[in-house]
Amino acid sequence: MAILKVARLGHPVIRTPSEAIPRETIPSAELQRFIDDMIETMREYDGVGLAAPQVHVAKQIAVIEVADNRRYPGEGSIPLTVLINPKIISASKRQMEDWEGCLSVNEFRGKVPRAEALEVEAYTRKGEKVKFHAQRFFARVIQHECDHLVGKVFLDRMPNLSTLSHLHEFIRYKQDPS
Ligand code: ZN
Repeated sequence: MAILKVARLGHPVIRTPSEAIPRETIPSAELQRFIDDMIETMREYDGVGLAAPQVHVAKQIAVIEVADNRRYPGEGSIPLTVLINPKIISASKRQMEDWEGCLSVNEFRGKVPRAEALEVEAYTRKGEKVKFHAQRFFARVIQHECDHLVGKVFLDRMPNLSTLSHLHEFIRYKQDPS
């Protein structure tokens, strides 16, 4: 496995809509190795999610995992989830606003409203089609990663930039002490 180089905002790949993965190519050794590398890269940088464009590959793959995450303390854990060609098929009208950051917009945090609950359809890394319900933080991370697959970042989803904070100042002034 390998730790991949993370593309940051300004690199054109971050704004490039990703291509769908043909189902028959999902089992290929090349794609499976790439998914393993994405997982290793997400863990190396303490991300809770990583989308393929963030490692310079404009393909519809995202990995998500929250296990006692140091960047988002207090959030519940999410088991390792690999989403290929994910589609949000419905989203709750009810939204929740919370802080987000991004490995491609690093050292910043901003408050982003997101749908509280989702129905999601995707392929697993075994090529199986799954449909599942996600809510709260898991739903937030899925929306953040699906945005990357259409060339959007969390800044685009902020109603205004008044909460945008450097990480150091966020920790000092904004982070909820609970
Ligand atoms: Zn991101």
